[in-house]
Amino acid sequence: MTDRAVTDRAVGARPGSDRAGSARAGSARAGSARAGSDRIVAAEVLVTSPGRNFVALKIVTADGLVGWGDATLNGRELAVAEYLREHVCPILLGRDPARIEDTWQYLYRGVYWRRGAVTMAAIGAVDLALWDIKGKAAGMPVSQLIGGAVRDRVLCYTHATGADTAALLDAVDATRARGFQAIRVQTGVPGLGAIYGVARDGAGYEPAGRGVGPVEETWDTDAYLRHVPGALAEVRAHVGPELALLHDAHHRLTPNQAARLAKALEPVELFWLEDVTPAENQEAFRLVRQHTVTPLAVGEIFNTIWDCKDLIQEQLIDFIRTTVVGAGGVTHLRRIADFAAVGQVRTGCHGATDLSPVTMGAALHFDTWVPNFGIQEYMRHTPETDAVFPHAYSFSQGLMQPGDAPGHGVDIDETLAAKYPYDPRQLPVARLEDGTMWNW
Ligand SMILES: [Mg+2]
Repeated sequence: MTDRAVTDRAVGARPGSDRAGSARAGSARAGSARAGSDRIVAAEVLVTSPGRNFVALKIVTADGLVGWGDATLNGRELAVAEYLREHVCPILLGRDPARIEDTWQYLYRGVYWRRGAVTMAAIGAVDLALWDIKGKAAGMPVSQLIGGAVRDRVLCYTHATGADTAALLDAVDATRARGFQAIRVQTGVPGLGAIYGVARDGAGYEPAGRGVGPVEETWDTDAYLRHVPGALAEVRAHVGPELALLHDAHHRLTPNQAARLAKALEPVELFWLEDVTPAENQEAFRLVRQHTVTPLAVGEIFNTIWDCKDLIQEQLIDFIRTTVVGAGGVTHLRRIADFAAVGQVRTGCHGATDLSPVTMGAALHFDTWVPNFGIQEYMRHTPETDAVFPHAYSFSQGLMQPGDAPGHGVDIDETLAAKYPYDPRQLPVARLEDGTMWNW
């Protein structure tokens, strides 16, 4: 089947031709999806690094429509690129692009090896590209296709960081001056060097570095726990009661330590405390929840609804951070969001610069539709990235809106993208002071 599909691709299946149809008929049961008028005739992977690495999937239909998906998995980008090239693109050829749900099930159930970051990012890329195509075919933005917007603009937050509290307060002031109404605050810890989330050199925070191996950071949880409650209390006193403040512990704490921190931060009245403890064991959040009313957020590394099943069912969290690219696209994130709504859990999609503008565009359409929306993370991409990915979305006064372009509203300038070849980067790792590997 694969050989046949690749052959069809190589010769270029003609619009509406029997050749495209025969490729589809050859694609096992998926071929039983009844004929619409259109077919996928090309699926290609593009890797570009305009400031950092992004992987994009381009799907082209016989009718000449082009859909773009994001397949970026930070630090493991080429794994998804090859998964798509070798295992997904060939079997997309000849399929009906309108049958998004069937394609999602085909790639999820059909692979046998379910879930996982690489598989789900690849499925997410296909899903975003197909929603983009469906929107372009209908002349509608994605938010219209999935039910229509319930809000025109969405609250977003960005990051302010400082090596010490004085620098953090300056960064918070500068961020407020840009219009943000919600800010994630991260501070250096006395006695520790570079740590997660704190920018160096006053530049924007970018953890992925060049070099033979990852940068090794040293971590001391006790030092962090001694410092952070006081530092965040100073921030709250500085900004007053209204500004939404967020903080990310980046999976560093045990459940007991997480409970201590969340309890100590209650007077700061955080919008959320994020990733307090790893969630491989979802039950770990029970202990945290029993001891604090600080709102909890987790899920940026989740791939499927199964990763947050217990967290939502037992109402152990307040916000689910899963993204369209990380969890199989709009199709699957809608399921997670609807399930989350049962437990009054709101969304707060990951939106750091490790995800391409394609994800941001699609996320904003999702955000304007989803009834149980909480907040959207937003870090500005570099000007080079914005030039490679022209987009309809925009930011103003702490709010974002997706624009009304058909599809998800993000395009790719392929000529410009080709000027930024893949640039090998490594995310840091963390060790405790005695050398023990810890969670970065
Ligand atoms: Mg996080």
